[in-house]
Amino acid sequence: MINVTKTFFPPIEDYQKQLKRIWENQWLTNNGVLYKELSERLQEYLGVNYVIPMTNGTLPIQIALNAFANGGEVITTPFSYVATTATIVWEKCTPVFVDIHPDYLTIDETKIEAAITDKTTAILATHVYGNPCAVEEIEAIAKKHNLKVIYDAAHCFVVNYKGQSIFNYGDVSTCSFHATKLFHTGEGGALFCQDEATRQEMWYRHNFGHDGPEKYHGLGLNAKMSELQAAMGLSVLPYMKQIISERKRVCDYYDAHLDFSQLSKLKLREYTEWNYAYYPVVFKTEESLLKVKTSLEYENINPRRYFYPSLEELPYIHSSTCPIARDMAKRVLCLPVYDSLSSESLNKITSIINNE
Ligand SMILES: *Cc1c(COP(=O)(O)O)cnc(C)c1O
Repeated sequence: MINVTKTFFPPIEDYQKQLKRIWENQWLTNNGVLYKELSERLQEYLGVNYVIPMTNGTLPIQIALNAFANGGEVITTPFSYVATTATIVWEKCTPVFVDIHPDYLTIDETKIEAAITDKTTAILATHVYGNPCAVEEIEAIAKKHNLKVIYDAAHCFVVNYKGQSIFNYGDVSTCSFHATKLFHTGEGGALFCQDEATRQEMWYRHNFGHDGPEKYHGLGLNAKMSELQAAMGLSVLPYMKQIISERKRVCDYYDAHLDFSQLSKLKLREYTEWNYAYYPVVFKTEESLLKVKTSLEYENINPRRYFYPSLEELPYIHSSTCPIARDMAKRVLCLPVYDSLSSESLNKITSIINNE
């Protein structure tokens, strides 16, 4: 069976070596030695200002919204994973959907200002498939209207824009280290920010609001990453270069062998160093997508409709202002991409798609 992705498992000895350290330390969570080491390694490897690893990629979004959005209206994209909208609703804020750009598939920055009201407090946008939003334009809009910017950068591990980590844009960026993501800690994620004051605010919130054992700074929840998760991260991190170069091989193969008279590709924003995390293709119609999907599934190949349906169609959302997102969600399919995907499998996948 070939799925849209396959979790990278480091050699078990690498993981055992990290576990041994945990047993020696007799320490499982709360700012442990491995947790601190992973934080430092990530900061260095990614070139980011401040990082707080957390237990998944959803809680950091929620925490940032809790700090910034204040129950107001949050301008967001309907073309993302459900977590982007669900966290807004969960924080008792109101999602206001702005349509996406048909080529980049990220929020259309030219339509943001029209959606701003006096209740707007924040913008939460997704760098879809690691393709950056128009970060400079969004920053200018946010400055002008005094809004905070949060990026759901779940797909963006090692993505650089204009020579630096995409995580260095926005007031807060978040990433997911889920098993299906490019870099993983089993379950896991992180929050990135640009200054010490923000880091402090976010740190409190992710640890119950504790300010020392007997004092509370404010409201918090539990989003701490454990030593067991950090152990996986420290075991996977040394293989990232290899993982990314193998994924590049897969994406290059698709680029060279797919019949693009029937399909179109994601348009990457200029000045982006991409991470080969996903390979989305856009069909001319939903019908042709479904035909190809069925043929692939018949051969035990499982692409995924990331992201379907458009988040405006969630059962707890009552909005229909984004026709482009609704249309794209019906026509985009993510093909299998992972480091160990063989040339034979790639040949089979591309033949099925091209012959459909
Ligand atoms: C995976 C993902 C998330 C959620 O991350 P988890 O680590 O699974 O909580 C959020 N947003 C996007 C765009 C994602 O792809």
